[in-house]
Amino acid sequence: MRSNVHKHSHHHADMYPVEKARSEILSNFNKLEESSIPITDSLGMVLSSDVKATFNIPPFNNSSMDGYAIKVQDVADPDADWPIYLKVTETIAAGDFPSNIVEPGTAMRIMTGAPIPDGSDGVVPFEDTTEMDSDFDIKRQQIGIKVIASKGQNIRLAGKDVSIGENVLYKGTNCTYSVIGVLASLGLGTANVYRRPVVSILSTGDELVEPGEFITPGKIYDSNSSSLISAVREAGGIPKYIGIASDNLESVKGMLQEAMKADLVISSAGVSKGDYDVVKQALSESGDLNFWSVRMRPAKPLAFGLLNNNNQKTVPLIGLPGNPVSSLVAFEQFCRPAIRKMLGKERLFRNKSQGVLTGPIDNYDARRVYARVHVTSDNGTLIATPTGNQDSNILTSMAKANAFAICPEDEVGKKAGDTVELIMLDRDEDTLL
Ligand code: AMP
Ligand code: MG
Repeated sequence: MRSNVHKHSHHHADMYPVEKARSEILSNFNKLEESSIPITDSLGMVLSSDVKATFNIPPFNNSSMDGYAIKVQDVADPDADWPIYLKVTETIAAGDFPSNIVEPGTAMRIMTGAPIPDGSDGVVPFEDTTEMDSDFDIKRQQIGIKVIASKGQNIRLAGKDVSIGENVLYKGTNCTYSVIGVLASLGLGTANVYRRPVVSILSTGDELVEPGEFITPGKIYDSNSSSLISAVREAGGIPKYIGIASDNLESVKGMLQEAMKADLVISSAGVSKGDYDVVKQALSESGDLNFWSVRMRPAKPLAFGLLNNNNQKTVPLIGLPGNPVSSLVAFEQFCRPAIRKMLGKERLFRNKSQGVLTGPIDNYDARRVYARVHVTSDNGTLIATPTGNQDSNILTSMAKANAFAICPEDEVGKKAGDTVELIMLDRDEDTLL
C-alpha cells in the first residue's frame, strides 16, 4: 500500500510554514486610531468604546396594541353580549402625550406606541371591544369592553429593552446593521470606531495594461489591481490605487513613494525567482524587505517588510506573487487578516468547515494546497467540488469557487470521498456571531 504521507519534507527547510509567515506579518499590525463617524457609515467597523444608555428604552410605558387604555378594575365582569361601557375621554396617537388621567368609568382610545395615560393599568385591543361592531359610532364617545382584562396587559414597560445607565454595547462590538439600529435608538448620531486602513495597491510588470485600454501584442490586462482593490474593500479597508509600475528601478521606487502614504502597501508580481531583479531591488532599497518562500500552493513567493519613508514613518508592504490566483490566495492568508486586525476585529480569519470532496487534490511537493472548490450542502453535509484547472493563472476557477479545500503539507493528495478542511469564502462571519 502506498503511503499517503510525504517522506521528504525536509527539502523545504528553507520555506516558511504559512502560520509562521502569517504571525510574523501580523505582529507588525495593530488596531488603528479611534474616530467618530456617522453611525450609518460604521457598518463592518468595530466600536472603540463602550456605549452607555442615558435614558430608558422604551422611554415611557406605551401600548403594544391599538385599543383602549382602561382601569382593569372597571371591567371585572364583562361578556360579549353584555359589554361594560366606559366613557371615552381622549384619543392618544403615537407621538402624542395624554393631557388627562383615566378616571374610574372612563377609557382613552390609544394607538400602538402611544404613552399609557396615568390611571390606566391595561389596554384592551379593538377586537375585544364594540369598536368593530357594525353599529359602532365613535361620536357616542362610549366604548363597550367585551372581555375581562388583566393588570398590565398590552403595556410595554419603560426600560424593558434598555435601562438608563446600562452598558448597552461594548468596545470591540462589530457594527452590524442591528447594532447600528441600537446606536440610533440611543439617540446617537455618531459612533466611536477604529478607523479603516488605507491600503495602496500597486501592480508591477511591463506586460500589463489597464482594463478598458487598447492592448498590443505581448501585453495582458492587469487583473490583480481590480481584484485586489475589491478584496481590500470587502475586507473593510479603503483601497488606494497607485497604478502599474514598469519593471525598472525608477518606476517602482517612484510609485512606492506615493504608495507609502497609507497604512499598508500591497504590490503584486516581481517577487518570484525569474523576475527582473529591479523590482526586488526597488522594494529592498525603499525599506527593509525580506523575500520568503511560503510552503503553500499556489502563492509560494512572498515579499514582506517595512517601507521606510525617509526615516519618518514605516509602512508595511506585502508583496504578493503575480499570478492572479496566487495573489488572491496570498491576499486571503496574509492581507485580509492584517486589514481586519487594523480594524480592531477580534476574529481575523474566515470560517472553517469540514466537507466531502467530489474530486481529487494533488500535492506533489509537500506544500499546503489551497484548492478552489464550490461548496453546496446536501442535507447539512458540505460537498466540495473542485472548480476546474487548479493552475495559478486560471482565474476563472477562482471566480467559480466559494471555498478553499485544504490538502495538508504532509499528505500526497486527497481523493474523491475524503473529508477535507474548508475555508469558506462567501460568508461574513460577523453575521454569524
Ligand atoms: P511575475 O511574478 O512578475 O513573474 O508574474 C507572474 C505571472 O503573473 C506572469 O505571467 C505575469 O504576467 C502575471 N501577472 C503579473 N502581474 C499581473 C497582474 N497585475 N494581472 C494579471 N497577471 C499578472
Ligand atoms: Mg513580472
